[in-house]
Amino acid sequence: MSNATQLIHSIPVDPLTGAISVPIYQTSTFVQEAPGVNQGYDYARTGNPTRTVLEDVLAKLEKGETGIAFSSGLAAIDAIVKLLETGDEILAVDDIYGGAFRLFTQVYQKFGIKVNFVDTAITENVFDAITPKTKLIWIETPTNPTLKISDIQAIAKIAKANQCLLCVDNTFASPALQQPLSLGADIVVHSATKYLGGHSDLIAGIVVTKEKELGAKIKFIQNACGAILSPFDSWLVIRGIETLHLRVKQHSENAQAVAEFLETHPAVDKVYYPGLKTHPGHDIAVKQATGFGGIVSFTLKHDTEEAATAFVISTKLFKLAESLGGIKSLLCLPSQMTHKTIPAAKRRAAGVADSLIRLSVGLEEAKDLIDDLQHTFDTCKKQLQVKRKRQPAVSDI
Ligand SMILES: *Cc1c(COP(=O)(O)O)cnc(C)c1O
Repeated sequence: MSNATQLIHSIPVDPLTGAISVPIYQTSTFVQEAPGVNQGYDYARTGNPTRTVLEDVLAKLEKGETGIAFSSGLAAIDAIVKLLETGDEILAVDDIYGGAFRLFTQVYQKFGIKVNFVDTAITENVFDAITPKTKLIWIETPTNPTLKISDIQAIAKIAKANQCLLCVDNTFASPALQQPLSLGADIVVHSATKYLGGHSDLIAGIVVTKEKELGAKIKFIQNACGAILSPFDSWLVIRGIETLHLRVKQHSENAQAVAEFLETHPAVDKVYYPGLKTHPGHDIAVKQATGFGGIVSFTLKHDTEEAATAFVISTKLFKLAESLGGIKSLLCLPSQMTHKTIPAAKRRAAGVADSLIRLSVGLEEAKDLIDDLQHTFDTCKKQLQVKRKRQPAVSDI
């Protein structure tokens, strides 16, 4: 059976009524027959039937044992860090999601958890940076926003050999394209706010673990700390997932067309998209994923914040907004938006130039999106012109 068929039929018909859509159990508690004798649920922080459906579907999609749905992607990341103890270290990808960077460095560092950032696209860097205290390797692939690709299988081997966990933030690829647990990762985390939800109408997070035991530990942390996903938002994510395969396929096709267009444009310096043969991670992306996703980043030859700002406020179809993965195309300027919390020198060193523009390519016709970009290049022509240094005149010498 194909993945799409399996997905659609892994969302159960309601056994009580035959309802084809999953019921929303809007309840805080569940009546018990006798103390501790219940039908699988006692209090809705600990478990809710609507949330359970989402968690089980996600576990299946990611080929894991346990799914756990959180109130946001960051709440999901937070629960994973809580597996660690004072003195432990995290080894994380340098081009990390800004919110994860802030959580690791500004919240957990003060509890004595240290984090080292390396470019995990070069596997040897992971090997070199790992210490006996490293308990968690944290990668995103593709990364946000420079679309770096890390070799999940190779890094999983290093993690195993050093008895530490490998967690992959699979938000950008989604399980429709990539299943890190099948490649040796221990944990997958998602901002379900993005492709899983898919319609820019909710905030949610998901953790899936390969092993039941690890899943139980994270479930314990969730119940103890309380960052659960509501029944209605669980339902919205289920509804989004029903079309995940179709959406991601179209996002990827559109993104490929947009990336190929940008590559030929004279005002563009670099294009970051793993579907381009010129992308340094292209071969690994082909090996570990079935597509390249909907995010494309590019820099301008005129590499200034001013030039990039002129561009991002002039598009018509691409709306200026944080977030990604919805049906409508969005664009953003990470240096001034999503990555503003990362110090400028660190940000630039991780390859996020001042003029780097990130596109979340939506489900409009690719031609219309390309026309929108072309039109924007034309209207911003003046601001995008690279100012040449004045040649010294003969009379100056
Ligand atoms: C958005 C995002 C997050 C954070 O998720 P929220 O749902 O916004 O809390 C984490 N990782 C990646 C890659 C993201 O894009």
